[in-house]
Parts: sequence; C-alpha cells; structure tokens
Amino acid sequence: MNAATAAVVTVGTELVTGLLVDTNTSEVSLALVRAGVRVIEAVSVPDDEALLAATLRRLIADADIVVVTGGLGPTHDDITREATAAALGIPLVRDPVIEAGLARWAARHTDARASERILVQADVLHGARVLPALLGTAPGQVVATPRGSLVLLPGPPREMRPLLAGLSAEWGQGATPPAILRCAAVSESDVQVATQDVLGGRADVELTVLAAPGDVRVVLFDHGVGAKGLAAVARDVAARLGPLCYSTDGSSLAETVLRLAHEGGETLGTAESCTGGLVAAALTAVPGASDVFTGSIVSYSDRVKMDQLHVPPGMLAQYGAVSEHVARAMAEGARAALDVSLALAVTGIAGPGGGSDAKPVGTVWFAVSSTRGTRCEQRHFPGDREIVRARSAALGLDLLRRSLQGL
Ligand code: ATP
Ligand code: MG
Repeated sequence: MNAATAAVVTVGTELVTGLLVDTNTSEVSLALVRAGVRVIEAVSVPDDEALLAATLRRLIADADIVVVTGGLGPTHDDITREATAAALGIPLVRDPVIEAGLARWAARHTDARASERILVQADVLHGARVLPALLGTAPGQVVATPRGSLVLLPGPPREMRPLLAGLSAEWGQGATPPAILRCAAVSESDVQVATQDVLGGRADVELTVLAAPGDVRVVLFDHGVGAKGLAAVARDVAARLGPLCYSTDGSSLAETVLRLAHEGGETLGTAESCTGGLVAAALTAVPGASDVFTGSIVSYSDRVKMDQLHVPPGMLAQYGAVSEHVARAMAEGARAALDVSLALAVTGIAGPGGGSDAKPVGTVWFAVSSTRGTRCEQRHFPGDREIVRARSAALGLDLLRRSLQGL
C-alpha cells in the first residue's frame, strides 16, 4: 500500500520575515509522519490571500492531505478562510452554533466593525467538518478535496495542538507508524552505514537518519514491508547497533536514564562545570524526575569545586580544572554532597577562549561515580561553545545510561 501524502502550510508574515520561529510545521509534520503519512512539502506563506490561494491550489493537486495552520483569527490579516474558499471554489457559510459561542466576545466591542470581525471566525467552508476550539477562538475545519482533505488549524500552538491530537488518530488508521531508534554520542555516518548493512538495499523500507548534537535518530518507514516486517527490521537494526542504541520506543535519553535508575533503585546527581546545569535541566524536564534525581551542583568556579565538592586546591593547581583528576574528584564529591548512588561530573573548555595547545577548546572530561567505582573519559568535541555544551550534556547523560546498564 502506498502511504498517503501530505503537505503542511504555515501562514503568517511573521514566519517568512524571521520574526517568529515556526514550530507548527515541525509538530504537524511529526504527527503526520507518526501516522504513517509521507510529507512531501512544507511551506510558509505570508498573510497574502492571493499567494495563499495559489499555494493551496497547487498543493491540493499534489497531496492527499493539506494541513494549514494560522490566519484563522479575527483580525484583518487573518486571511486563511477566504484564501481556502477561493482555492477550493467553496463558499463560506456562517455557522450559527459557533456564532452563538462567539457572541459574548463580540459584545465586548463597542465598535460594530470590531464585533463583526470577531464573528468572521464562525465562517465555515460549506460542507466542512468543524473541530470545536476553546471558547472565543476560531475552530478548526476539515473539508474534502478531490484527492483527500484539507485541514485548517489555528496558529497559536496551544490552540493547534489539541485539534492536531484528535486528527492524528484518523490519519493513522490502517497505516504503519515509522520505527524510531535513538542513539547518543555516535557519528551520524556510523549509524547510517550500520543500518544500511542490515537493510541491504531493500526497497520496502525507507531509511532516514536525523542528527542533532549528541542525538542520532534512525527512522524506518514502511514502504511495503508491513507492520510486522518493519518491527522485525527494527529489531535487527537495534541488534546491530547494540549498546549504541538506547531507545526503540521514541523515549529520550533523559527519560531512558530516569527509567533505568528507577528500575535499578539508584539515585542520581550531577556536578556540572562547562554544561552549567544542562544535564540537570534535561533530567528535570521529564515529569517524575524527582523519584531518582536529587540535584546538581553547578560548580563553574574553582572556589565552588573546592567548597561544595571538596576538590583539593592542590589538585586544581597541579592538573587544572579540566583534567581527569578533577573530574573524578568532582563526581566523588557530588556523590557524597548530594547523597546519591550515582553521580556524573562534567568539566571542559567550551570556548571560544580558554583553550591551549595541551587542552584545546572542546576538551571535556567526564566522570561517573557509583558504588562500583569511578570511571573517567575524555573527549575532544569540534564546534562552537553551544555545540560543545550540547554534546557534553548528551554524552554525560549517555555515560549515566551506560553505567546504569552495566556497559
Ligand atoms: P489568532 O486568533 O490568535 O489570531 P490565528 O489562527 O489567526 O489565531 P495567527 O494570527 O496566524 O493565528 O498567529 C497567532 C499567533 O500564533 C502568532 O503570533 C504566534 O504566536 C502563533 N503562531 C502562529 N503560527 C505559528 C507557527 N507556525 N509556529 C509557531 N507559532 C505560531
Ligand atoms: Mg491571527
């Protein structure tokens, strides 16, 4: 079975002028991809009715599902309803139920023109299914196209999300969601080559490898292999990647670390210098982190390394803050100070300054201290300050994961 295709359109002059970062495309596309739909185009269009209508005419001819976000509000620049009506040749009809819901918002305006603009949010494409929104805001709409359907969703992510969640289940019917394997602290090309070895050029599975600093995702799409076949291929790829692969169910590295710690009855803490709390931030972003994570000491200065983690002053003077000795002492100090069974320490030179021939920018020492002892590792990360910090945080989490898995 060929997967359904989709196009995503975000509407807003603020998006194409760079004033606002478009997050809707990513959320909508991911929801489509998870439902087994192939996204063939994603585009942002300014608040220009003729331009949007032309874009929609083209996309409804190319894609089975067209999802549009933004421009459904009451102001003069909200032109999505009109542009869609023009593109599809379908009239807009005022929906009395939505209008009644909007009436008390309209009544707040003393100017009749402002009240009327509120009520345009009740204009629905003839024959469209209405996706009810929160009170006082524009609803979503789903309307049939010759190839499939066109969906209008509000622009504000908070309003868009619940409507998107409702649609995802419909899109996913009968489709195989992609299998996603996640790896940390490995090179994208190593993962790509290893996965391609397993796939051996077969055409019924499509491979995409997504890489961010310290996070590589292998995404396998069903191109005819079927749900069971895809699951078997994913198992083979996971086996080939071995300990490099930390998750086959989409969960993040931080979630994986917390789950493993919980299962193993361990408690976690961190001592962070160059990452400034990034590891702790990733862990505490996960609900329920407090079960196992107690805290972090952001030990940026030598003074805090000495006072809070009891790193000996002589050690700092002799080896420098970025050294195996200090990383070890920081991890052991954090384990005691935070009263945890497993502690991670990160100390490095994120740049742009502070590097030397012996310790260039990107030099980072890690230590993990547990009841089984303390292990240290050094890395030289390429890239600027932001990348070195992101990679350091990801590797730090991965070292915790490996320690918890006994690797
Ligand atoms: P409203 O009734 O709030 O006007 P709307 O459907 O007309 O809703 P827009 O006017 O296009 O939506 O956008 C309103 C706000 O929603 C934007 O200022 C922005 O904060 C957010 N928003 C819109 N589109 C996006 C997007 N693609 N990514 C992230 N945020 C967005
Ligand atoms: Mg608007």
